[in-house]
Amino acid sequence: MALFPQQFIDDLRLQANILQVVQEYVPLKKVGRTYKGLCPFHSEKTPSFHVDPEKGFFHCFGCGVGGDIFKFLELHEKLGFADSVKMLAQKVGLSLPERSEGSGDDDRRDAALRESLLKVHEVAAAYFREQLAGAAGARARQQLAERDVPQATIDQLGLGFAPNSRDGLKSRLLAEGFSQALLLQSGLVVQRDNAEVVDRFRNRLMVPICRDTGSVIAFGGRAMDKDQVPKYLNSPETPIYSKSRTLYGLNLSKSAIRKLGFAVLVEGYFDFAQVFRTDAAPVVASCGTALTSQQAQLLRRFATKIVLSFDPDAAGQGAAARSCELLVAEGFDVNVVTLDKGEDPDTFIRRKGAAQYRERLRNSRPYLEYLLDQAAAGLDFEHDENRRQFLGRMLTVAARIPEAAARDQFADRIAHKARITEDVVRAEIRKAAVNRRTTVTARELPGGGQLKPAERGLIWGLFHKTKEARAALDGLDADDLDQLAGREVFELARSLHDQPADLLPSELLRRLSTMSARLVTAVAGEDTAPVVGPGDLSECARILKRLRCERERAAVQREIDRLQGLGAGKHGDAINLLLNQKRTLAQRIEELT
Ligand SMILES: [Zn+2]
Repeated sequence: MALFPQQFIDDLRLQANILQVVQEYVPLKKVGRTYKGLCPFHSEKTPSFHVDPEKGFFHCFGCGVGGDIFKFLELHEKLGFADSVKMLAQKVGLSLPERSEGSGDDDRRDAALRESLLKVHEVAAAYFREQLAGAAGARARQQLAERDVPQATIDQLGLGFAPNSRDGLKSRLLAEGFSQALLLQSGLVVQRDNAEVVDRFRNRLMVPICRDTGSVIAFGGRAMDKDQVPKYLNSPETPIYSKSRTLYGLNLSKSAIRKLGFAVLVEGYFDFAQVFRTDAAPVVASCGTALTSQQAQLLRRFATKIVLSFDPDAAGQGAAARSCELLVAEGFDVNVVTLDKGEDPDTFIRRKGAAQYRERLRNSRPYLEYLLDQAAAGLDFEHDENRRQFLGRMLTVAARIPEAAARDQFADRIAHKARITEDVVRAEIRKAAVNRRTTVTARELPGGGQLKPAERGLIWGLFHKTKEARAALDGLDADDLDQLAGREVFELARSLHDQPADLLPSELLRRLSTMSARLVTAVAGEDTAPVVGPGDLSECARILKRLRCERERAAVQREIDRLQGLGAGKHGDAINLLLNQKRTLAQRIEELT
């Protein structure tokens, strides 16, 4: 369901001038065909921020950020896409269109359903608060008091209590006139196997989960008793709640995050409650699972620096490590704060106070440094085996760092630590970055990995020689694109076949994931095409075809080896077949070379 008609976005883009808009924020100087200035997204003394007014994009060669005019407003004004469209429309004096017709009925139905679900949650939140304040909530109130959560914080967080009753909430919601079907969709009640419909949350302390605008969209319920499982029970995904797109507490902390320019990421509701209550720092909670890239993008609207404050035993592993690595891969500045053994932010602040917690935050360390020390701890680098082991572990992390400059810097630190030559480490990292692509899906690491020269050539071509690049892409099969770092870009470009050539660059940038958009603007921002050899764009396509044949040949060879390992006699026919395939592929590679 599109928020704005495509036609309107296109009109807006044609009328808005990226140069003018960016210049409202950043002084720019003309250098050749493009404009240059100091990057507004990282601090620098020599300009590496470029705007290409003709192709309608910006890119910073320092920090890697890049995109179209909408992306610039999203990042600079910390807006979502829809709001950046509104803002730009205002700037150029276009009035926003009425909601589109056509799919209007569906849109209205969806909107009505979401509206009703929000109301259900509002009533449920009130019910839980009432229960906490009443007789049923005595034990829960006591538990909160023991955890140093005062009434003022209970009110701010909207905490409540789900009594140990089969259908207390259900009855209340039905009495308010909501249908049972709607209640089932809300996830607040569940249908048992015997068709009976009962409350999902019973005998639990209830934490409302809100959108960043403040509406309640889900609940987390904490067990009251030690033997009650699970310890935390959450609302399921619903039309208004997507766990991977929600960060707990952002509605309460977002203005502080924006003002101070960083956010502390903690794990649990009670960690959040203590940091928030004592005003120790702007805080959000991940609620125990590893961050998703959607959550990272949500955060990026408010800050580019994140301090992770997790259990020290867990900081280097599991969900915390995955969150750190994701944030690094998404280009955030990531620091880690370590508390004493066995402490989490909740217990630490209750024991030692907010001032000491703030002190720890001030002394937090860059995640990558922290990781190096952790991995090196206890290893004797006199032994080659240890150095190899250390290098292996660090390479997987390094391969995820999106910016070449930051990656090289990390490489140098690794080299220094393990006393290995810098060039060797850098080369290993490049190799690891390439290998990653075979084990990690594009979804996990959008746009990650390294572009091959032929891919760079095609991407540059899509911006500067759109028609020829399109023709070259048309000559490729889906399988040719398989496993390429630029696959998302190429597949998208092919799917935009009906777009006029001059709109293709901006349409690409608008639809690509943040990471892929960065990859693309980094290449497109170069003044001249990457050198791949004679015949440029058709040459690129030919090289990609050849690479695919080489991948296939390698796979065939692996299969041959496997079968020979199992006994050549038994699998003779299959092996012969494969040898034939291998010959055909070799011929094809020969033709394509
Ligand atoms: Zn920059």
